[in-house]
Amino acid sequence: MAAYDENNIFAKILRGEIPCKKLLETEQALAFHDIAPQAPVHVLVIPKGAYVSSADFFARAGDAEIAGFCRAVAQAAEQLGVVESGYRILANHGPDAHQEVPHFHVHLFAGRDLGRMIKPPEK
Ligand code: AMP
Repeated sequence: MAAYDENNIFAKILRGEIPCKKLLETEQALAFHDIAPQAPVHVLVIPKGAYVSSADFFARAGDAEIAGFCRAVAQAAEQLGVVESGYRILANHGPDAHQEVPHFHVHLFAGRDLGRMIKPPEK
């Protein structure tokens, strides 16, 4: 796995060097609206620690960081008012999943019927 790049866009958001449309901030996590939403609700939740991807976070983060992060995802869904209607969370890791930003993040999609799981690849 590549080393963490301190200049990735989410690291810059965490340092306040570039703006974001913030939904919530906790001790362990930040949630903000995706700049190119793919559903009526599309929020990203990121840990404040420097982790390249889900694999890195799950392997290295401390228990309090993991718990705090998961609770922030749940809190984001509550704040967005989508717990009853439903939502999908998704984390891309690596090239086959087209991970673009090398700071671990969970996408939270909601606001319409999201269909079932993933589309097959284009032929
Ligand atoms: P991924 O392919 O899982 O790495 O997703 C990266 C996501 O970050 C994409 O959905 C982008 O639209 C989103 N994104 C990139 N730059 C920004 C930004 N400055 N503010 C909010 N979302 C961003």
